[in-house]
Amino acid sequence: MAKKIAAGNWKMNGTSASLSELETLTKSHSTCDCAIVICPPAPLLFRAANLTQDSAINIGAQDCHTDQSGAFTGDVAAHMIADTGASYVIVGHSERREAYAERNRDVRNKAEAARDAGLTAIVCLGESLEDREADNTLDIIGGQLAGSVPNGATADTVVIAYEPIWAIGTGKVPTLDQIIQVHDFIRGELCARFGTETGNQISLLYGGSVKASNAAEIFKAKNVDGALVGGASLQASDFSPIIDALN
Ligand code: PEP
Repeated sequence: MAKKIAAGNWKMNGTSASLSELETLTKSHSTCDCAIVICPPAPLLFRAANLTQDSAINIGAQDCHTDQSGAFTGDVAAHMIADTGASYVIVGHSERREAYAERNRDVRNKAEAARDAGLTAIVCLGESLEDREADNTLDIIGGQLAGSVPNGATADTVVIAYEPIWAIGTGKVPTLDQIIQVHDFIRGELCARFGTETGNQISLLYGGSVKASNAAEIFKAKNVDGALVGGASLQASDFSPIIDALN
């Protein structure tokens, strides 16, 4: 059985004042049947990890570099993220694939760097509206999955987030049947590549305009083990009901 995960991606939002949202979450979710992961901007990682040290909340970064060190101004290596006390890192978010031209092999290299640093990589996949309308969704997702997920992936090293690009930050959500179709497909591909046991253990998150009002419905879907949430993860009052819907 895959672990249930409620993950929040703060993107480029938040300053030290936002740590109070984390404090609220640690108090309201002192025990949880699922894993709760918050991914704040890099400057907050160390303080966020300290603040949540003995709580049910895990901290993750939003990206990492493929290399361990070197002349990569502005970048952060996976082992540096682990050194802050964080335990997850998002790789291949569509905003990075688009704005920084990250290809599947870059994402795979980042996921490998994350694994080598002891982090769990949340590998994001998702089709554009154009791909969806041209009926290419499964081809795109299959290609991203094959190209972005490292060989030998396990449930400890990789989580998959299916995030249709057209649903991110738009308020548009796929139908439950559309979500189920893609998640079933991903599960099948993982089982075929990594074996049934491992394939069934890797958590599959849905992401794209998840909020308190639609989370419970989405979590009912087969092979949906949780969510990667953007906007609705910034305030504890918005994110808490999403966590509750998963429990
Ligand atoms: C995201 O960016 O990962 C995301 C899912 O954003 P939102 O929940 O705001 O659509």
